[in-house]
Parts: sequence; structure tokens; C-alpha cells
Amino acid sequence: MNGFDKIPEERKRRLDELFEAFSVIGDDTYVYLCDMQYDFSRWSKVLTDAFGLPGEYMYGAGAIWEEHIHPEDRNAFHHGIDDIFSGKSGGHDMQYRARRKDGEYDVCTCRGIVIKDVSGQPEYFGGAIRNHSQQSHIDRLTGLRNQYGFFEDIRSHIDSKVPMRVCLIGISKFAEINELYGYAAGNSVLQGVGRYLMDHVGNRGGTFRMDGSKFAIITETQTYEDMESTYEGLRAHFREGIKLGDEYAPLELHAGTFALDDFTTDDQTVYSCLTYAYDESKFNKQGDIVEFCNNLRADNIKSTAKLHSIRNSINNEFDGFYLLYQPVVDAKTEKLIGAEALLRWKNDKYGMVPPDEFIPVLEKDPLFPVLGEWILHTAMTDAKKIQEILPDFIINVNLSYAQLERPDFTDSVWNIVKNTGFDPQRLCLEITERCRLLDMKLLNNVMTTLRAGGIRIALDDFGTGFSSIGLLKNLPFDTIKVDRGFVQKIEEDDRERRLVYNFTDAASIFGSDVCVEGIETSGMRNILKEMSIHSFQGYFYSKPVELGTIISGLKSELGEMCFKNP
Ligand code: C2E
Ligand code: CA
Ligand code: CA
Repeated sequence: MNGFDKIPEERKRRLDELFEAFSVIGDDTYVYLCDMQYDFSRWSKVLTDAFGLPGEYMYGAGAIWEEHIHPEDRNAFHHGIDDIFSGKSGGHDMQYRARRKDGEYDVCTCRGIVIKDVSGQPEYFGGAIRNHSQQSHIDRLTGLRNQYGFFEDIRSHIDSKVPMRVCLIGISKFAEINELYGYAAGNSVLQGVGRYLMDHVGNRGGTFRMDGSKFAIITETQTYEDMESTYEGLRAHFREGIKLGDEYAPLELHAGTFALDDFTTDDQTVYSCLTYAYDESKFNKQGDIVEFCNNLRADNIKSTAKLHSIRNSINNEFDGFYLLYQPVVDAKTEKLIGAEALLRWKNDKYGMVPPDEFIPVLEKDPLFPVLGEWILHTAMTDAKKIQEILPDFIINVNLSYAQLERPDFTDSVWNIVKNTGFDPQRLCLEITERCRLLDMKLLNNVMTTLRAGGIRIALDDFGTGFSSIGLLKNLPFDTIKVDRGFVQKIEEDDRERRLVYNFTDAASIFGSDVCVEGIETSGMRNILKEMSIHSFQGYFYSKPVELGTIISGLKSELGEMCFKNP
């Protein structure tokens, strides 16, 4: 208690009563009240929590709070408080920056007055602190907290290790509503969803309006089943229709959810996991709620911590990432003509993590584009070393659909081509059928620009998604890569053979080459050699290997035939 007289019980009760009366003020203000005789105060718990003060009740709170004030604002604050306690001034009204628990400064205004007792002696000093940084976390349209508030809440749950369940909800075809009925209608839809969430989730968690037409919920109490039923209620309500102009139109939603009880992670990783589940709901589950990692709780814990490490590696100069190269051979001569770069990540704790485990989750992550650039840069630098021996060697690099969406994507490819001095005609970018999630006009533009500069484009995993033929028809691919799923049983299954034959037919109509992946046996090779296929790739020739293996193969007496099998 450091030299303060202990406040008597009945004075503390009185302070509490007054404090409660003071607290009947709006949500976004903090309240404080000080019994000046004992310099004993009570402060709003939200404030003491957010700024990491010792507790709601404090002796000598002024000096404690002063520690949290920005050094440049501290002097003014100190004099203001001195004047109040010395009786020179009857109140104060000031603005300063105060440091939160997480080290960030918030702009606060503080207004207080001195209440005197019957004899005219200062008895209480009380007032309100308004946090302006927090207020800007409010979405004006819906009155919900916005995404800054969302990320702040996630961080604070992680910091204080409080388990939570998060849910991200979006409205289907919202852009269409805006286009057809105007922005006012769009706004009222958003307000309607916001209102519903506030009414139905309100006291069981936080509700947020994220960017565009997305909403989020953070709760500490809801199970997956609770969240599913909240969401189904919302879905049923809006399916009945919302009034747009003169008509009622049904509103379709989609949602992803995610439970976090492992805290070695950060807010962005949580958001990436959540977005992944959300996209699953949107694109593959017709709006049914999807839980991250298919409800596999054990896996889930493993993967958030793992994903967090992987994200950290990106920030840590790509430590742990490396590329392997899988040879591609000419289907007729079986000579090496190129290789596909395949990403790997390894560290001491998790060993080698296959790319399928982290790329789909991270591809929408804000960090992914830098990793994408690193992959392109590394692959081209390595391929140049191979080209010293085999000048026509082509390097294939996989792209994520989210990379293509970025407005600076083509520029960044050209920069890397220029900086590495790579021949663009020897670069082939592979895109998967997930690119149908993108705007076709945009994709066509990107592809046309890249191809005009000589870069080749391949359609990866052909046949695995729907509308493969549709994509071929609409977009100019140099190569289609037939997924290994179509050739696995080609030796015994006649239908599979005919299917692949038809693929090669379709490709030739659209002027593309065909590469078949996943050749594992000489029998497969023999059958496929009869078809008009341009190149082969698969374990029969080689698994993905390190750069050095390709170089030493080429340097051996076998030369370009180094990956040919008997
Ligand atoms: P993908 O592009 O279809 O790559 C081919 C995958 O099939 C590779 O798995 C390869 O090791 C495997 N494979 C090749 N030949 C055979 C075979 O004969 N039999 C069998 N059973 N498998 C074979 P990997 O390296 O695990 O990569 C998986 C996926 O991860 C890739 O599928 C690709 O979609 C993604 N990926 C890998 N590297 C990158 C990258 O740098 N960027 C992006 N965006 N995605 C990548
Ligand atoms: Ca590929
Ligand atoms: Ca593939």
C-alpha cells in the first residue's frame, strides 16, 4: 500500500455507490472515481484490463496511470493532476496517448471534476476517459465493431489464453444486390444482418462487421453445435426473404467456423484458417457451415501451431522453405526437357510438412504473395544453373489462384524475370482449376499479358474440378496437365484409357499440349506412348529431387537421358 492510509470500509462502500452512479454512461467511455482523502480509486474494469493496470481498485492511481501515458504527453498530465490535488484547479479536460497492454498507444480524452464535501474540502475526483482509438473500431453502418476490433479481440484472447470459437459469415452475391437494387438496398441488407446478429448473439459473444459483406462472431461459450444452430437460425430467417425494392428476395449465406484453444498462434493465422473454412462453405458446401479441419479437433490443434510456425518462417527470410524439382520428360524420346518446382517446408519440431497441408490454408493469407515471389525467384535462379548444361530446359512453377488476383501480379513476375535474367520463354506457370473462382475477364487479361511476353501457362490437375472443358474453351492454355487420378488404373481399365484419349483430343482442338502426371510404371508409359501426349512426369522417371541431382544427372554420361527408365 506504500504509505497510503487504508480506506475505511464504509468509505469504500460510498465510493462504490457513487462509482455505480457514474458508470451509467455510454459503453465507449471508461469511468474513474477517486476518494481524495485516501487517494483510493476505483476504475472501470474494461480500462484496467485493456491497459494492464494492477486492478479496479488502486491507491495512488494518478502516478500509476502516468506510467502509461506517452512520454511526450506526460508532463502536461502530471501538472494537471498536481493542480487538482493541490486544490488549484476544480477539474480537467485533456487529451493524451495512453499505452495499452499490447504496447500500442490509444488516443484518449479525459474529463474530470472535483466534488467538494460540505466544508468545501475536495472529497472526490471523478470523470470519464473516452478512448478514440477504440471508437474508430465501430462500423458506422451497422454499429457493430469492425475488423480492427475483431483482430484486437482475437489477439487479446490469445494473449490471455482464453479459448474461443470464431465464425465468419458472408452474404452470397451481395454485389448483385447492389447492382440490381442500388446501394441503399445493399446497406439495408447489411444492417438487417447486423441487427439480427446483435439480437441473437449479443450477450453470448462479440459480433463484428468485417470488410465488404462479411460478419464475424467471437464467443467463449458456444460449442460447434451452438454456433451451427445460431447460423441455421440466421440462414432460415434470411431465406424467407428480405425486402428489396418492391419484392422479397431470399438471401443466401455461407459460414466457416473455428475453435481455438491452442495459443501458440497469432490473429492472422486464425483468420487464414477461418477464411479457408469459409471458402469451403461458399464454393463446395452450398452454404452449410464448415468447421476448419473437418471437425478433427486433434489435427486442428496441431495445424494452427504448425501454420503459425510456417507463417513465421515466411517472415524469417523463408527459413525452412526449399524447392525440389520433379523432372518432366519428352513423351517420345524420354529425354529431360524440364522440371516442376515443388515447395517444401521443414523444421526441427514438425519435420517435413507437405505443401498440400499448408498451401490451401495460406494461399489467401496476406503473407502468401511474398512467398510466391520467393518461389518464382528461387526456381528461376536454380533453372538458370540447369540451362548452362541444357539451354532449352523449361521450369514449371505452381501458382495459387489468390496470387493471380493481385493487381501487381504481372509486374512482379516481370521484375523477377528481369532481375534473374531469365528467358521468359522457358518459364511455364501452372494454374489449377481453382482459378475458376476468379473473375474470368481478369484471368484472361493476366494470361494474355503473360503470354504476350513469351511465358507459358499450363492448366494443372485437368479433369479434377468441374467445367474443365469450359476453362479450356475460354482461356488460352499452352499445356494441360492430366491429373494422375486419371491414369492410375489405365493398365486394367479400358474406360480410363478412352477418357485420357478424349482429353488429348479436346486439348488438340484448343491448341494445347498435353502432359500426363503420375506415371509410375513402364506399363502405364507404354499405353500412354501410343497417344498424342507431349510430355510425362511421374515417379517412374523420378520423384521430386534436389537441384544438384538434376545437374549431376545431366553431367553424367547419360546426359538428357538420365531419367529414362528401361
Ligand atoms: P501438383 O502441382 O499436382 O504436383 C504434383 C504432385 O504429385 C507433387 O506432390 C508430386 O510429388 C506428386 N507426384 C508426382 N509424380 C507422382 C507419381 O508418380 N505418383 C504419385 N503418387 N505422386 C506423384 P507435392 O510435391 O506433394 O505437391 C502437392 C501439391 O502442392 C501440388 O500438386 C501443388 O498443387 C501444390 N504445390 C506444390 N508446390 C507448390 C508451389 O510452389 N506453389 C503452389 N502454389 N502450390 C504448390
Ligand atoms: Ca502442378
Ligand atoms: Ca498436378
